[in-house]
Amino acid sequence: MEYLDSFEMEDRKKLDKIIAELKDKYPKINWQTKLHDNEEMKGNPTIFISLIVPSSQYEEAQQIYQELKDVGFDFESSIFDPLIEEIVDFRDERNWQQFHNPKDLAISLSLEASELLENFQWKTNKEAIDDNIDNITDEIADVVIYALLISNELEINLEQAIKEKIHKNRQKYPVNKSFGSSKKYTDL
Ligand SMILES: [Mg+2]
Repeated sequence: MEYLDSFEMEDRKKLDKIIAELKDKYPKINWQTKLHDNEEMKGNPTIFISLIVPSSQYEEAQQIYQELKDVGFDFESSIFDPLIEEIVDFRDERNWQQFHNPKDLAISLSLEASELLENFQWKTNKEAIDDNIDNITDEIADVVIYALLISNELEINLEQAIKEKIHKNRQKYPVNKSFGSSKKYTDL
């Protein structure tokens, strides 16, 4: 067996959640834990618990674990939580959750994106910004509010989803191929 990471006992619950997510997403890997004293630090009474995998799966597991660690695990809190709380309070004070199913929220997001576009219609960039910056600001806010509401309804951790998408985009658009190019990844 090989060690991937070690946690202090007080972080046991966090490790349990990490393992649940790893087992759910990558069931082929034999994710396990091992309880042990920290032998390197003699006299330290802290008990550690480690995430371990069979040696034959180590390389694959290490890559998967590092990628998930970089983007954040699903259960972890998100930088958007305080904003979502404020938006949901606004919604609940008005008893609007009954209307907020994912389909209608997605329609609303698209309508708000069109309202954003409307500010640019028949204008140059400069004209649009000079004339409509306040409206543009409002409509961007509307788009993001609906994005947060949809994520909340579908229990998507938006911070993690964005990090994962950037990770995917890095694979799709390697710097050496896409630098200074507006081509789609299929044409690179
Ligand atoms: Mg609007």
